[in-house]
Formats: sequence, structure tokens, C-alpha cells
Amino acid sequence: DKTSAKGFGARSLRGNGEQITTWTYFRRIVDLAMDFWPTLVAALVCLVIMQSLQILAPKLQGSIFDGIIAYLQNPGVGKDRFQDAMATYVTIMVLQGAFSGLKSLAQELVQRRMACAVRLKLFASVIRMDIAFFDTMHTGQLTSRMTNDASQMTQPLNTLLNDLLANVLLLVGGMFMAFRTSWKLSILALTIVPPITYSYRSLSMPSGRAASRAPSTALTAKRTPRRRMPSATSARSVASPPRHAFESNKYSDSINTALGHGVKNAYVGASVTAFSTYLNLGTAVLILWYGGQLVCDSEGKIMSIGSLITFQLYWNMMNNAFISLGNVFNDLIRSSSAAERVLSLIDARPDVNPDEGEVLVRETVKGHLKLRGIQFRYRSRPDSIVLKGIDMEMPPGTTTALVGKSGGGKSTLVHLLMRFYEPTAGEIILDGKDTKLLSSKSVRQCCGFVAQDTQLFSCSIEENLSYGLGRDHSKEEVIEACKAANAHEFILEMEEGYETRVGEKGIMLSGGQKQRLAVARCFLRKPRMLFLDEATSALDAENEAIVQGALESLLLELNSTVVLIAHRLSTVINATQICVIHKGLIVERGTHDELVAKGGVYAQLVSRQLSRDASAVIGA
Ligand code: ADP
Repeated sequence: DKTSAKGFGARSLRGNGEQITTWTYFRRIVDLAMDFWPTLVAALVCLVIMQSLQILAPKLQGSIFDGIIAYLQNPGVGKDRFQDAMATYVTIMVLQGAFSGLKSLAQELVQRRMACAVRLKLFASVIRMDIAFFDTMHTGQLTSRMTNDASQMTQPLNTLLNDLLANVLLLVGGMFMAFRTSWKLSILALTIVPPITYSYRSLSMPSGRAASRAPSTALTAKRTPRRRMPSATSARSVASPPRHAFESNKYSDSINTALGHGVKNAYVGASVTAFSTYLNLGTAVLILWYGGQLVCDSEGKIMSIGSLITFQLYWNMMNNAFISLGNVFNDLIRSSSAAERVLSLIDARPDVNPDEGEVLVRETVKGHLKLRGIQFRYRSRPDSIVLKGIDMEMPPGTTTALVGKSGGGKSTLVHLLMRFYEPTAGEIILDGKDTKLLSSKSVRQCCGFVAQDTQLFSCSIEENLSYGLGRDHSKEEVIEACKAANAHEFILEMEEGYETRVGEKGIMLSGGQKQRLAVARCFLRKPRMLFLDEATSALDAENEAIVQGALESLLLELNSTVVLIAHRLSTVINATQICVIHKGLIVERGTHDELVAKGGVYAQLVSRQLSRDASAVIGA
């Protein structure tokens, strides 16, 4: 696959151009694990003890056999030897079981704690991300990062401990013990087997690769005949002069050629498999043959039968450890892809960082907004420029209405003013300061926002209203705000009043009730800038009138800088200025009277809406 083909090389690039390699991910996983170093050290100690005991086992098994032989020769002495060897072996096995349990517990604890720490880091990172991030990352993907990937990314630790370290210990320990058991046999095995293995590998590599390709070439229709299946158009071309037989023959030729290659490769593959099997068996035969001679020639003095068995077991141990080590590399790469996904999310930095920049003191904000050459495109749709150069001025206390056809960029502009997104070019200036240099958190604290659909959190109504207020508040204040927003009565009608917990996203409340809560939020926050994005458009006539009433009293009370997108002509008429936005540009601006007199796009919108709808809907 792509990952293993790239190996431990560059996997991705960070924003600053720094290359991230698989090793980088490992270093970071190990760094994360080091936070729990006492448990990690305990796991390591248990692992070393466990493997040492495993390394002792063949030696003891050999002693047991020697004990049996001694028993057969001289029951008096042999029985004790046999029983002693058995007792030591059983003790070692019991200890090995206990330490393997302890090691597994310690490792599991480290991995679980790591996964928890990673989840916390992920959450902290995601919660700081800007809206642009959530445009490209779906809830499902995020949930999968938090759950599956966070636990899977600890897998390399498992590979490092259980596959790498455990097998290195077996390999080194096994070799040491093999030499101790019989240096002659060890030298023989080590001088003969590696060169044979090496030459076998270099011989078998090309054919081995060919063999591994063979089944897919011969059996997979996608690869085999490089001729494409007929489409409707090509079928017509084949059918018009009747050339079915010709095309069929061509196809069958290419199938047969591919099969020919496949069969050849199957033979090569089978030979390689047989050769490698012979190689393994041959080594065993060699050890037994030479070892057997050593035992017989010295009558068991240089080497006993038990030592020969011991040596054979050490040889198998080294062999298995060597084979397992061969897979470690691929396992590490495979298991690091979850780490790659998680760590890149932890590293992700928002375009608009809520905590960076100068903090605004709310009380001193006048709410004078200026836009200079604002351009914008969504990161999720980089090819389409949504705003193409917007210049506007909104002095404190004025109301600016944005009208125009749907898709023109009105909501996008409001989102930029709320600092949800960073403009691609241009400046948003608040009271003479470029908002890029201000903390977006403090800018948002001076803003009120009522969108088409209000999102509520799964907590009490009171908590929902004071969410993110950034200051202490009294219950009376909340009640006052709700009274002003025509929300007090319906809240009191609920069983637990202000303590009523509204379900996830406020599903217990109607659209009109949620909008009134959004207005109440604004009464409580007393923002210096207020943005209304079609606040009543999703409501029925009755609810629309109630929410509209609440909005009008809000505008009167606050006297803040207002930017509104409205579908009611009545809301737009009294605006200080009206901007008609079309395809990302302001095509007309002025007061209602000026624009009607001008007889341009706005005048057309007004007359069209007036004739279509007695209640005068505009813009949609
Ligand atoms: P309006 O408010 O005038 O109806 P919008 O600002 O909602 O217009 O949309 C302007 C353009 O931006 C549209 O083409 C819309 O499809 C696109 N757009 C809006 N929101 C997003 C988003 N989150 N990601 C990508 N494109 C978007």
C-alpha cells in the first residue's frame, strides 16, 4: 500500500513546511507514553523478567530429558535430578504466567491512560477550531478520531513492546544460551545458515515478487486483459459492422496470455516455497546430525541428549523471533496511520484563534465597523470566490440592511463580521483597529447574533441564556431579558420554568420559542454590534409577528450597530443604509427612498415582491 511504499520517509508536511515522518509520530507516541513512565517502567521490567524466564525454559526442558535418561540409567540418583528439574521448570512457568499478567496489566493501563490523554488533547484542539474547520470535518469523522483512532494510536506502543523488544530479547538471549549450550553447534549453525538464507533471498526476490503478482494477474479481471469492458457507445461501434467474433477472439487471446504468465509464476512460486521449506528443515537436520554426532562421539560428555534438545529449542526460539521482527516494521507503519490522523488534528491551528490578539474592553467599544476590499472563499470550496471586494462603513448606532438574491454572499459577510472566518483579502476595522489584531473571543463578546435557526445546548434554559456571557449575572436579569423578548410566559408555563432542561439542540422547544430565547440572549448581553440573519424567515405568521415585536424592542433598547438580512420589506425600509449584494459584490447602496428613486435592482426587487406578496417579502 501507499504507506508502506513510502516507508519511514516523509508522510506529510506541516503548515510551516516541516516534514513529518513516521519516526516523528513514534517519537511523539513515546513522549505521550512517558507521561505515565512509572507504569511504563513497570511494564518494561515485567517484560524483561518474563522473557528471561522464557529464555531459561529450553535449558530446563533439556535438564528434564537428561533427568529422565539419568533415571533410566540409575533410578536412585536420576529420580532426584528429574524431580528437581521438574520443580524448577514448574516454578519458572508459574512465575512467567504471573509476570505476563502483570506486564499486560501495566501495558493496558498505559495505553488506556494515553488514549484518555489523547482524547482530552483532541477535544481541547477541536473546541478551539474555527467554523472553517467544521466545514471540512464532519461530526462522524471527529467522533471516529476521538474514539477509534485515539485508542488505535497507542497500538505502536504494543508493537514496540510485544513485537520489537520482546523478540530482540528472545533473539539475543536465545543466542547467548545457544552458545552456552554448545559453541560448536552455534558456530556451525550461524556460519552456514545466514549465507544460505541470504543467497536464497537474493535468488528468490525477483521470482518471489513475480509469484506474488501472479494470482492477481491471472485471476483479477481488472488487471488481466488490459482491454476495457464495452461501454454503450463502443458496443454500438462493435455491433454496426458485425465484429463480435473478432473482439471475442482478441479478448480470449489476452486472457490466455495472462493465464500463461500466471501458470509460469505459479511454478516459480511453488519452487520458492519448497526451497524455503527445505532450508528450514535442512537446518534442523544439520543441527540434529552434527549435534547427534557430538553426543554419540563423546558419549554424552561434551554434549548430552538434553543439551541437544535444548539447543534445538533455542534455535527455534531465535528463528521465530527473527521472523516476528521482520513484521515489526510493517506493523509499525500500519499502526501509525491512526496516530497520523490524531496528531495532525491535535496540531491543527485555526485561522482565527479565539485567544490571540488584543483583548477588547467591552464597555469602551463604540461599534464603528468598516470593511475594506473584503474578499472571501470557503476553504471547503476554494474554487468559488464568494465575496469579491466589499467596501462598507457602518457607523455606531446605524442599521445596515443587506438584501439581494439568495447565494449572493450576505450570510457569509455577517459570518466574517462575527469573526467566524478570516477574510481571504481585505480588512474589517472595528473602532479604527484591524480586527485581525484583536482577540476574536473578545470581539464576539461585543456581538449579538440571531440566525435563522437557533442552536440550544442540552442544559437548562437559564444556562442556555447565560452561555458565554463572560460576566456574572443575576436571575432577575435573565427574567428581565426574557420578559423583553416575549419569552417569559412560555418559560413559566413549562414544568420547571427557567430550570427546564431543553433537549439536545433544544428539540423540546418550537422554532418561535427558540428564536425568542435568542433575542433574550441579546437583551442579556447588550451587544455593541447586532447581526440578524433572517431571524424570522423560518417561522409561521403568528410566531413571526411575536419574534418581530421582540426584535424591534431589542433594536430600540440597544441602540447598537445593526447589520440585518431580512426578508420583510418593513424591516428594511427604515434602515440607515441598504446594500444590495449580488454575486459577491455590492451593486447598489443607499436609503430605501434613494434606491427606489434610482429604479435599479432594489426597486425591481421591491416592486416584484410587492406585487407577489401583500406582506412584502424581499430578496429571497
Ligand atoms: P446568501 O446569504 O446571500 O444567501 P451565502 O453567504 O449563504 O449567501 O452563500 C454565498 C455562497 O457561498 C453560496 O454559493 C453558498 O453555496 C456558499 N456557501 C455558503 N456557506 C458555505 C460553506 N459553509 N461552505 C462552502 N460554501 C458555502
